[in-house]
Amino acid sequence: MNANTNTEQLYKDNVLGNYGLPPITFARGRGLRLWDDSGKEYLDFCSAIAVTSLGHCHPKLVAAIEEQVNELICVSNLYRNDVQARLAAKLNGKAGGNGKVFFCNSGTEANEALIKLARLHGCQKSGQDGKQYKIVCAKNAFHGRTFGGMSATPKENVRQGFSPLVEGFAFAELNDIDSFAAAIDANTAAVFIETIQGEGGVYPAEKPFLKDLRSLCSEREVLLMIDEVQCGLGRTGRFFAFEHAGIEPDAIGMAKGLGGGVPIGGVWVSDQYAKLFKPGSHGTTFGGTPLISAAALTVIETIEDEGLLENVIDNGAYVMQRLAELKSKNPNYIFDVRGLGFMIGIQIAESPAEVVTQLRDNGLIVPPAGSNVIRFLPALTATKDDFDEALGIFESVIKNRSATLPETQSA
Ligand SMILES: *Cc1c(COP(=O)(O)O)cnc(C)c1O
Repeated sequence: MNANTNTEQLYKDNVLGNYGLPPITFARGRGLRLWDDSGKEYLDFCSAIAVTSLGHCHPKLVAAIEEQVNELICVSNLYRNDVQARLAAKLNGKAGGNGKVFFCNSGTEANEALIKLARLHGCQKSGQDGKQYKIVCAKNAFHGRTFGGMSATPKENVRQGFSPLVEGFAFAELNDIDSFAAAIDANTAAVFIETIQGEGGVYPAEKPFLKDLRSLCSEREVLLMIDEVQCGLGRTGRFFAFEHAGIEPDAIGMAKGLGGGVPIGGVWVSDQYAKLFKPGSHGTTFGGTPLISAAALTVIETIEDEGLLENVIDNGAYVMQRLAELKSKNPNYIFDVRGLGFMIGIQIAESPAEVVTQLRDNGLIVPPAGSNVIRFLPALTATKDDFDEALGIFESVIKNRSATLPETQSA
C-alpha cells in the first residue's frame, strides 16, 4: 500500500465527508510549488484559497514561527502579550490609524464580531436592544459558515438544512446604490459587503458604488462594514481592496491571507464605534496569541519589505492583459475576466469541476468560484514566469475543452 492509498483510506474511515475531495494528497510546499505524496509537482494558484500569501514555507515566516515557538506560544487574552500589541498597531496603521483591532481565528469569526458590532451600534442608537438590528448585505455574497456568516450569505447550498437562521439580514443588488438605499430602513444598523465577492465568482464592487455607499451609510447613520477576508491583505495590490475606491469604512473584517497559513482572523473598528465593545462583551480563547501574532506580523512586514504590493500591481496588470488576449482568442470558452491584482476570476462556458481537474492533472492548482468561474489566487510573491507557466497550462487545457463545446454558446 503506498502512502496515498493509506491516506485515502484514513480519510474515508475517519474524516467527516463535508468536502468533495479529489484523489490527491499534498505532502510538501515551497514558494509557489506544491508536491503530492507521489512526488508530482504543481504550480499553486489556489494558495489555500488566498491564505498562503507569501507562498509555502517562506523563510522569514518559518524563522518567525520558529523563534516565537521557543519563546511563548500561548497566553490568555485575560493578559497582555507584546506580539499581539505590535500586530494590532501594525494593522491599525494600515487601516488609517484611528481605530482598534480585535483578533479571532477565522474569517467567519471576524464577521461574527462585525455582526455583533452592528447589533451594539443599533442598540445604542435606538436605545433599545433588538429594535435596530438589521444588516443589509449583497446578493451573491459569501461571509462564512457560522450562523451569523451563513445568515449573511444568501446562497442556498450554504444554508440548506440549517434553518432557522439568524434574523435580520436583507439583500440588495451589488453595484446598485438605489437597491441598497431601498433596503435600508428604520431597523437597519449596518451595511456589510465584500469589496470583491470571492466565492460568489469574483464580482468587484465598483468604485463609484463604494463611494455612494459610504455617503449613504453616513447619511442614514448605519455602519459601513467591509469583508476583506479574501480580497484584503495585499491581494489586490493595496493593503485593503477598498483603498482603490478611496473610502473609509467603519469596520473591516479580515482573515485568510493575514497569517500566511496559520489560522487568524481580525476586525478593525474605527474609534467612534470601537468603544461599543466593553470588557466582557466579546472574546475568544485563541485570538491573537503570541505564536499566531508573530506569524501575522511577519507576513505584513514581508509584504512591505519585499515590495509585494508593487509586485501584485505589476504582474496583476500583466496577467489581466494576457487573459484579455486569451479571451479574444477563445470567445466561445472565456466569457469574462474580472478582478484586481492577484484576485482574478475567469468566467467560462461550463461549470468549473472538469476543467479544474484537468488543470490539476496538468500541474496547475486553481479554485473554482460561483457556478462558472475559476480563480487565479497565487501567492503575492508570484513572478511573471509563474504567470507565464500557469497561462501556458491554462491555454492548452482550454483549447481541448472548448473543442468539446457547441460553437453557438455565449454569455
Ligand atoms: C473565506 C471567506 C470567509 C470565511 O472565512 P473562514 O476563515 O473560512 O471562516 C468569509 N468571508 C469571505 C469574503 C471569505 O472569502
